[in-house]
Amino acid sequence: MLYTSGMSKKKASPTEKRDALLAEMASLRGLLNGSLVQRYSTCSRKNCACHTGKRHGPRLYLAATGEGGQRQTYIPAASAARAEAGVAQGRRLRAIVREVTALNLSLLREAPE
Ligand SMILES: [Zn+2]
Repeated sequence: MLYTSGMSKKKASPTEKRDALLAEMASLRGLLNGSLVQRYSTCSRKNCACHTGKRHGPRLYLAATGEGGQRQTYIPAASAARAEAGVAQGRRLRAIVREVTALNLSLLREAPE
């Protein structure tokens, strides 16, 4: 058997894998459950060029589906990078939920506690 410094080569059990995923989940502090969309819009100033085709934008919005359907929330340009990181964390969260579900299902079927 080959040992490398500090790391055990032992294969992680389903419960160990699950607990590692749950610990990772807790690290996703900036998560945003939704996707980013860019929109162009017109304003309320009657003589603004936006009413003749030169619309304002692109502006960034988080599109998220809630109980009342989809909702889009404006994100300031200065926060765009954080919003992108948050959306990536949201994707990771959903992947973790699927992985933990699969692990818990296998534990339910195979190993009564
Ligand atoms: Zn305008």
